Amino acid sequence: MRRKLAAGNWKMNGTRADLAQVDALLKAHPAASVDMVLCPPATLLAPMVERAGTCALEVGGQYCHPNQTGAHTGDVSAKMIADAGARYVITGHSERRTDHGETNADVLDQTLAAWDASLTAIVCIGETLEQRDTGQTLTVLASQMVGSVPEAATGANIVIAYEPVWAIGTGKVASLDKIAEVHDFMRAELTDRFGTQTAGAIRLLYGGSVKAGNAAEIFATSNVDGALVGGASLTAADFAPIVAAL
Ligand code: PGA
Repeated sequence: MRRKLAAGNWKMNGTRADLAQVDALLKAHPAASVDMVLCPPATLLAPMVERAGTCALEVGGQYCHPNQTGAHTGDVSAKMIADAGARYVITGHSERRTDHGETNADVLDQTLAAWDASLTAIVCIGETLEQRDTGQTLTVLASQMVGSVPEAATGANIVIAYEPVWAIGTGKVASLDKIAEVHDFMRAELTDRFGTQTAGAIRLLYGGSVKAGNAAEIFATSNVDGALVGGASLTAADFAPIVAAL
């Protein structure tokens, strides 16, 4: 059985004052029966872990460098994220792929670095609008999965998030039919590569304009094990109902 997961990505938002959202979220879900993860900016990792205490909330980074130490000004390593008390890290978010030119090979190396630090990687894949409109969605996703998901993937060390680039922060959501088609395809690709047991344990998240109003129907869709949420994870008022819909 795959445990449901609601992950929030704060992106480049949040200062210490926003940790009040953690209190409010834990008030709404003191012992959630699903996994809850928030990925704040690096400056808030340790304070958020402290604020969450031993409660139902896990913390994650938004990116990690493929190396664990070294002369890489401004970067953060998986070991540092783990040292801050976090348990997860997002790799391959489309904003990193676009803004920082990260390739599938980079994402694969980051994911291996995450494992080296005992973090669970949330690997993001997704097609652009142009790729969608030219019928390339499944081909793009297949090559992103082959290129950015390492060989030793298991249900414990990896989560895969399908995030159509055109749906992120736009208020546009993929149709439920499309989400089902893509998630069934991802499960089948994983089964071909890793076998039924491993593939059946890996959680598949949908991301892209998920909110309280559409979460329940998305979660009821085939092979959707949860969501990676951007804008609607910034406040407990928006995120708590999404967690409740899981
Ligand atoms: P959004 O972002 O929920 O604001 O569309 C999703 C994401 O980038 O993970």
